[in-house]
Amino acid sequence: MSASYSDVAASRAEILARIAAAAKAVGRAADAVGLVAVSKLQPDERVDAALAAGLRLFGENRVQEAQARWVDRRGQFDALRLRLIGPLQSNKAEDAVRLFDAIDVLDRPKLAAAIAGAAQKVGRCPELLVQVNTGEEPQKAGIAPPEADAFIKEARETYGLPVVGLMCIPPLEEEPAMHFALLAKIAARNGLAELSMGMSDDFETAIRFGATQVRVGSALFGARV
Ligand SMILES: *Cc1c(COP(=O)(O)O)cnc(C)c1O
Repeated sequence: MSASYSDVAASRAEILARIAAAAKAVGRAADAVGLVAVSKLQPDERVDAALAAGLRLFGENRVQEAQARWVDRRGQFDALRLRLIGPLQSNKAEDAVRLFDAIDVLDRPKLAAAIAGAAQKVGRCPELLVQVNTGEEPQKAGIAPPEADAFIKEARETYGLPVVGLMCIPPLEEEPAMHFALLAKIAARNGLAELSMGMSDDFETAIRFGATQVRVGSALFGARV
């Protein structure tokens, strides 16, 4: 086996143990938290190592990069699941609907309309998370917190979309805890079960605040190239 296989396999085991410990510490079951392996910008050999190590749930942030990487591999692994975690342009909605099992970045009515139209055409709709810009950062995607409730309702009722949860990426320079708490609060009042929050540096904190999915890239694969 290549060095890269044993590296990814060891990191995976370590991260799963940390997830289990963080969940247990707040009285949650270890299997209540899914590990999304963020493979964006990673070399193919590390992705193949991750597959060999048993990982089956992956996050990508660009539609085209994900198509190039996954269209063939997907045929080889039945249980493979792909989530889109990076910004989506409306004109790429159909490609995204065809490729991904989940789109975690729904954040505006125009995109909701495009996904609904694509889903109708393709005959299936990925699971959807609404991205919330909890830090209200101008350069960052996501619906602003004060507009979240109305947008979630619009996505579900006007566009008939299967919204099941929320996603956030806290500002780099702030304590993530208050952002995770805010996301959990918005989810609870809207009856949404899934919370995608926490990355390599803060996934244990996110689990404490109720994350049901953590998105881990560099801690699993090593630095992006
Ligand atoms: C890149 C990325 C991650 C993973 O980041 P790491 O710090 O490498 O774990 C998680 N979520 C999103 C949305 C990302 O773009």
